[in-house]
Amino acid sequence: MAENDLRAVAFPKLDETQLASLERCSLTVLKRYRDGEKLFETGQSNGKFFVIKSGQVEILDESGETLKTIMVHGPGEFTGEVGQLTGSPSLVSAVARGDCEVYEMSQDALRQLLNHHPEVGDIILQAFIARRQLLRESEGFTGLRVIGSRYSQDTFRVREFLAKNRIPFTWLDLETDPQVNQLLKQFVVSEADTPVIAWGRKLLLRNPSNRELAELLGLRRPLEQTVYDLMVVGAGPAGLAAAVYGASEGLFTMVLERTAPGGQAGRSMRIENYLGFPTGISGGELAERAVIQANKFGARLPVATPVTALTFDKAYPVVHLEGGETVTGKCLLISTGADYRLLGIEGCEQFEGRGVYYAATPIEAQMCRGSDVVVVGGGNSAGQAAIFLAGQVRKVYLVIRGDNLDKDMSSYLARRIEQTPNIEVLLNTEVRRMSGTGYLSEVELVNNKTGEVRTMKTPALFSFIGAVPRTDWLPPEIERDTKEFIRTGPALSQSPHWTARRQPFLLETSHPGVFAAGDVRSDSVKRVASAVGEGAMAVMFVHEYLKDM
Ligand SMILES: Cc1cc2nc3c(=O)[nH]c(=O)nc-3n(C[C@H](O)[C@H](O)[C@H](O)COP(=O)(O)OP(=O)(O)OC[C@H]3O[C@@H](n4cnc5c(N)ncnc54)[C@H](O)[C@@H]3O)c2cc1C
Repeated sequence: MAENDLRAVAFPKLDETQLASLERCSLTVLKRYRDGEKLFETGQSNGKFFVIKSGQVEILDESGETLKTIMVHGPGEFTGEVGQLTGSPSLVSAVARGDCEVYEMSQDALRQLLNHHPEVGDIILQAFIARRQLLRESEGFTGLRVIGSRYSQDTFRVREFLAKNRIPFTWLDLETDPQVNQLLKQFVVSEADTPVIAWGRKLLLRNPSNRELAELLGLRRPLEQTVYDLMVVGAGPAGLAAAVYGASEGLFTMVLERTAPGGQAGRSMRIENYLGFPTGISGGELAERAVIQANKFGARLPVATPVTALTFDKAYPVVHLEGGETVTGKCLLISTGADYRLLGIEGCEQFEGRGVYYAATPIEAQMCRGSDVVVVGGGNSAGQAAIFLAGQVRKVYLVIRGDNLDKDMSSYLARRIEQTPNIEVLLNTEVRRMSGTGYLSEVELVNNKTGEVRTMKTPALFSFIGAVPRTDWLPPEIERDTKEFIRTGPALSQSPHWTARRQPFLLETSHPGVFAAGDVRSDSVKRVASAVGEGAMAVMFVHEYLKDM
């Protein structure tokens, strides 16, 4: 969308009829603020939403070195962005300019408005999505500041976590950014404390874990002590679809996610074969929209909540989180997908996040712009990565073990690769060695037919070599196939673990009430559309199961 169109969607004005419908809404409170009074402050997470009835409200960015005005809202306009729905701390402050009157709504009231009054709710929701996009893309908005070295694995982890969770931030590289020394002095920290996280002039965290970051950002709050109708583990396309369908159909739904919503799809900059997006959509954007949708219907989706074990308390599944907390549900959907296999090459691990990457997004591309890079793998994900990177780097070497580009790749991608001048396909080739001091600088390739060895100078190798299912946390009651993918369906009625009198539903595992969907499921089709379809279908079986409980 062109910037002007995006701004029009981001900053609409509600008309008299729409304002009148707000006035009639019992959840709205009319409030007055005096000139200079703050309606809310940066970092505050009370989630209040304001529509201006009279007067003006100025929106301020306090995240950089100087205070900036983002917008002045007048009558009919409203505050807020997507964080409003998730209860995340506000990224901006709002101050009354002159005396003003506003309609005030709590987070729950706003959710009701979005669900029950689409004539106003849709305008608000679209504005929230567009505002977050404008903030993220704006050169002037600093957001969180991450100060850390390009050679630090923790800095990479923090940047990756923020990017995957779509949090606006600015990275200041310890190695090259001229402001860094001054800022470290100002925050009274040393290089050894990095990565550090700051907001405006305030230091917030030193080398935080993902959990600490999630708590700071309101992505993770204390878990409610309750029994959910549906627990979902994994917020890739399958888990997100289950969250949307489950919550919208009245199930009290909790989704637990290790790092960030989106799963493997979140690593793709361009998904072109998902129905309804003829020009493609990035996995990150697809996930962001799904999260907003799930939140709108009231699903809980805290990150970072890695699940480490599954036990049973009578009939109820109980999942155990890293750190010792537990969550109980009447039903469980396992949608933990798969992870890219690590390159089995000696020394590879030391370069992870320092030259070896398992995704190709702007975060990784920032580390190798203008260089030659190596992409390993012959499937669609490697093909997409090669095409995305070709637009960012000098040259891409696509390393494929087999002798045919078309063997595992969709033909539209294979043809595009052949037509991209700065991609060179190296067939029958494997990675033999990697080297570098602290950071990858050289990769040795070998042709498995001729034995010819080729050494590449490169700061980055992107690996997409087949996936392993994330099922290591499951007990033996959940039957798996020889490759550890979860088995589901009627045939499991023969399993020694199956205890019910009926046959298992299509997506049910060997334990009644535990379902599996998406890439983690044995024999599933490894695609976004099928993961979404299975997530939605699983909810139908959950209803069936709950009916007989
Ligand atoms: C780079 C790339 C490009 C792709 N492009 C396309 C494409 O163009 N079109 C297409 O159709 N498909 C594409 N795919 C495949 C598609 O993304 C997958 O089929 C789809 O994401 C599978 O969805 P899923 O929900 O089953 O699992 P996943 O996407 O794997 O999601 C699983 C989620 O579970 C979480 N998780 C795992 N273990 C735990 C745990 N113990 N506790 C909590 N959370 C956990 C993970 O963090 C992850 O978020 C691509 C894949 C990749 C990697």
